[in-house]
Amino acid sequence: MRIDILTLFPEMCERVLSESIIGRAQKAGKVKIVCTDIRDFSGNKHNKVDDMPYGGGMGMIMAADPIYNCFNSLYSEGEQKPHLIYMSPKGKKFDQQKAVELSRLDRLVLLCGHYEGIDQRVIDEIVDEELSIGDFVLTGGELPALVVADAVCRMLPGVLSDDICFEEESHFAGLLEYPQYTRPAIWNSREVPEVLLSGNHAKIDEWRKIQSILITKAKRPDMFESYILSEKDKKLLKKHNIEI
Ligand code: SAM
Repeated sequence: MRIDILTLFPEMCERVLSESIIGRAQKAGKVKIVCTDIRDFSGNKHNKVDDMPYGGGMGMIMAADPIYNCFNSLYSEGEQKPHLIYMSPKGKKFDQQKAVELSRLDRLVLLCGHYEGIDQRVIDEIVDEELSIGDFVLTGGELPALVVADAVCRMLPGVLSDDICFEEESHFAGLLEYPQYTRPAIWNSREVPEVLLSGNHAKIDEWRKIQSILITKAKRPDMFESYILSEKDKKLLKKHNIEI
């Protein structure tokens, strides 16, 4: 997969994405991430990419042309237009399901706004969808684009050591993850649940599933409401005399 990030701050994005798991995935050729500076497409000697809003108001607006030309430079005529997402607080809320969906694309372009946003006409002309990372406003789209790129990359085959890594994680299958522990077995007088030391994998799996269900119900009742307990889940809860 190739991910392009269109931004006024390419170094900020490159720096983050060159570290840790995503950095290693890039080196191993599992994903290619290219950060392009929109300012290179300003078309003027002062590299100016923003202007005052029509109708007045605070702040500056990113002009349409530099963004349009920057995006068009990413693919040649005859090639399929890559899927373009504008990171925006007005967008649909990004979630795990969306990360899985986007990880199936060959190419993805993330557009980062800045200042008071970007000229609506370029959104109408080239943007396929708008995504928000939450109901708050940040100064720029870089952090949101990094969030999306990270979440998408770790869904790609071979990026994590084993697919099970994410299949049991929070949000993948509608539940939150069970509690995790590592050595020592006793820390500050707090013990690791005995079952995890038993070596009995069937029992461990059962304990983990029950914990996931209980934690989701307690911490995210909104999520739990849309989770449909399977017959297996129901039997498991009954076996352990747990009423939900
Ligand atoms: N004036 C805009 C509004 O009220 O909707 C906010 C502009 S914001 C200061 C500048 C840029 O940050 C946006 O163009 C967008 O790219 C990005 N941004 C800010 N908050 C975001 C969020 N929650 N999710 C995704 N992108 C966001």
